[in-house]
Amino acid sequence: MAVNAEVIRDGVLGMGLRGNPETGLLRGFGVILAINTVDYLIEREIAFLKAFPTAEPMAEKALVDAAQWCANATFGGMMKSAEWAGLIAPMVKTKVDSLEALHAVQNVLGWGKIVGYEIDEAAKTYTLRVKHSYYSKNYIDNHGISTKPRCYMWQGVAAGNMDLVFGSKVNDFEAVETQCEAKGDDICEFRVRQKRALFDLL
Ligand SMILES: [Zn+2]
Repeated sequence: MAVNAEVIRDGVLGMGLRGNPETGLLRGFGVILAINTVDYLIEREIAFLKAFPTAEPMAEKALVDAAQWCANATFGGMMKSAEWAGLIAPMVKTKVDSLEALHAVQNVLGWGKIVGYEIDEAAKTYTLRVKHSYYSKNYIDNHGISTKPRCYMWQGVAAGNMDLVFGSKVNDFEAVETQCEAKGDDICEFRVRQKRALFDLL
């Protein structure tokens, strides 16, 4: 394997991702990051959904879309950063290497762990499997077992990974969460495909 996830993990952790004493800002990978609690991150999403009780699917789509835009901006910024050029780019020879490098970075952000994936480069389909998604335990603790998948951020990130590596713009790809630990499944699974163009009749 060309991409050494352990080297990426040690490199990212070695950056010391914490606020600068002078500015109070946490800059890394060409973007500004912030550390927040999972309770805050998830409960604000749930409060957002509750604000639209008659239009929850549309509100859920807005959450996923926001995450997908954020993934494109954040990881797109990372892929153009000096840190990426120095640490990761030398390992990356193929598009699949880029995907694996993104996985390695995403696995040290406290979001849970990507434990598997499948990519069909010709069909442009991608399946991502995550254990310990940060939504799951929090959701169950606060709201009980969910009746549907809940990992809106991961759903957007899964599609965003494909936008960045196999697409040409944000929202080239779309994801669905087909299994979710928040609803009692063993794992969270996301399936991603390229969006059909509007009015595409093929
Ligand atoms: Zn999930």
